Amino acid sequence: MLLHLSTWPEVEAYLNRSSGLILPIGSTEQHGPTGLIGTDAICAEAVARGVGEATQALVAPTINVGMALHHTAFPGSISLRPSTLMLVIRDYLTSLARAGFTKFFFINGHGGNIATLKAAFSETYAVLADLNLPNSDRVQCRLANWFMCSSVYQLAKKLYGNQEGSHATPSEVALTQYVYPEAIKQAELSPEVASGHPIYGAADFRRRYPDGRMGSNPALATPEHGKQFYERAVKDLSSSYLEFLAQD
Ligand SMILES: [Zn+2]
Repeated sequence: MLLHLSTWPEVEAYLNRSSGLILPIGSTEQHGPTGLIGTDAICAEAVARGVGEATQALVAPTINVGMALHHTAFPGSISLRPSTLMLVIRDYLTSLARAGFTKFFFINGHGGNIATLKAAFSETYAVLADLNLPNSDRVQCRLANWFMCSSVYQLAKKLYGNQEGSHATPSEVALTQYVYPEAIKQAELSPEVASGHPIYGAADFRRRYPDGRMGSNPALATPEHGKQFYERAVKDLSSSYLEFLAQD
């Protein structure tokens, strides 16, 4: 069930049986010469919708833009600052908590969002306590990174070894190929790829990682692999979501 395709009476009825909500969050950032700019949002959205179907949960609209400041020297990347993203999350959750939602399960597609999301959760708990809503003290946020599910990680290791890398990875590219086969891109990739450098500002990042990849070989991706990643992530995260709901 998708929030943006629901009516308010439907949401009200849903709240009578569940106070849980799944929130996909991604990023809009370069993913190397063959990866889609929307990769992180596409992956998070697809997995979130799969988990929603498997668990009868409501799925919020995808938060498409995240914290991707270090990718902004490549055209097409859009980023919120950490402070802006924290305000976005806080305002989403405050609105939703007012309606009665208390269990927020974020399915995240971008490693660069993790630190900001955790900070935003703390900020939200404090703001909700000050607002003193009836459910303020029951609000709980959980962060689930689909690419860090153990079954996903194991499959990526098996299929790609160290060519998985850490950005524009074949696993995430494969998942986008499964979801959008009409948007599969071809480009020549140099056999040597930068990896292991620290991350600073955007211009520095582009200097260190000239084609945008970080140690990865996305040419190994196939839509069939993507289907396997999708199924594993949905299975793992459906269990995690149901456990989260059941916890006090
Ligand atoms: Zn990504």
